Amino acid sequence: MPLPPPPPAAGALELIGATPMVRVRHLDTGPCELFLKLESANPGGSIKDRIGLSMIAAAERDGSLGGDRRHLVEATAGNTGLGLALVAAQRGYRLTLVIPDKMSREKILHLKALGAEVVMTRSDVGKGHPEYYQDQAERIAREEGAFYVNQFANPANPAAHEAGTGPELVAQLGGRLDAMVCGVGSGGTLTGLSRHLAKAVPGCEMVLADPEGSVLAGYVETGTIGKAGSWLVEGIGEDFLPPVADLSRVRRAHRIPDRESLETARALLRAEGILAGSSTGTLLAAALRHCRAADRPLRVCTLVCDSGNKYLSKMFDDLWMLEQGLSDRPTVGDLTDLVT
Ligand code: PMP
Repeated sequence: MPLPPPPPAAGALELIGATPMVRVRHLDTGPCELFLKLESANPGGSIKDRIGLSMIAAAERDGSLGGDRRHLVEATAGNTGLGLALVAAQRGYRLTLVIPDKMSREKILHLKALGAEVVMTRSDVGKGHPEYYQDQAERIAREEGAFYVNQFANPANPAAHEAGTGPELVAQLGGRLDAMVCGVGSGGTLTGLSRHLAKAVPGCEMVLADPEGSVLAGYVETGTIGKAGSWLVEGIGEDFLPPVADLSRVRRAHRIPDRESLETARALLRAEGILAGSSTGTLLAAALRHCRAADRPLRVCTLVCDSGNKYLSKMFDDLWMLEQGLSDRPTVGDLTDLVT
């Protein structure tokens, strides 16, 4: 008998969290068991719904929002924007989002449909440049007297994972977990999980999954921030160490090239039936490397950070993969096979 489904929620915000978990059955996990926590099951479609709720609730508690203070501004690759837009729409706040222009069109359309105001900015400039998305968001907030959410430095970001995601996954795994594989965008997920696991499962190793080109894997290995390259995976990898990111318990980092990330996300769909986004490809690729290199049967967990439906016209499109140089020209048939 399946468990009875939960009773109706009082609203969409009550559906945030308590996400399901599934064991990987068909991909090669070496001697290990690998579990995926499906954050794509949140109502806004990603792990960032959790912090949309926690950061707005914290701002309401300290008086930064509420009463006649009704405008928020954030710099976001999309998913934090969706989480914030979901909560802002439910609570009647105005939301302005500054987004780098490499982000997928589907994410931007979704944000606008939720009522957010979107300001596009350049993806090819770094911190300190006036058009860098975080600097621009801070400036807009200052000029308009709005609340700058700033997930990169907001303690309510890791707190959502320390109080929510962490306890949930430990309970789902019966407290038995040897390694947790995480990516870092703001660092909220890794920091919150690392803090909870240090208390709840002290033997659990924290493992970083980093897109090749990001500076974070190098930071874990050498304690210094090198020069950033570029990568296509959305939502993780950084060219700086976000203030909120506490990598002190991370001992191992895997650098994953775009091609391996995207191929792994495509394999996850075919092998396990789970439609996930590009950052999940990076996390899963790192988790699989970790499992296959293990010399004993470990229990490993990672996250499906968001759903792949936003990336159907990118990484799930064979022609796009080919154009990006991320897959080989088919040896059978011709390109017309890919577009029909
Ligand atoms: N995956 C995706 C798709 C994301 O949008 C983000 C957040 N930018 C992350 C992973 C990383 O999460 P965090 O900000 O907690 O490090």
